Amino acid sequence: MPTVADIRAEGVRLTICCPNCARLRYLNIDRLDQSATLEEVAAGLKCTRCLEPDIEVRIMRCDPETGFWPAESAR
Ligand SMILES: [Zn+2]
Repeated sequence: MPTVADIRAEGVRLTICCPNCARLRYLNIDRLDQSATLEEVAAGLKCTRCLEPDIEVRIMRCDPETGFWPAESAR
């Protein structure tokens, strides 16, 4: 399981994804515990809108063709 520091070194970004209300938000990677694994990060967060504790932390990569990052979203 990679740590936050590993993810950061790859130049990718992390998002919090809520299975309950479908909210997707980017996380500020600098403010996370750099030695925590993604599981630990996910365990310490909850959805800011519906307060769902069982959220998913996903790695997001920039689209190699367009250079765009996936958009944040909410239903
Ligand atoms: Zn939610």
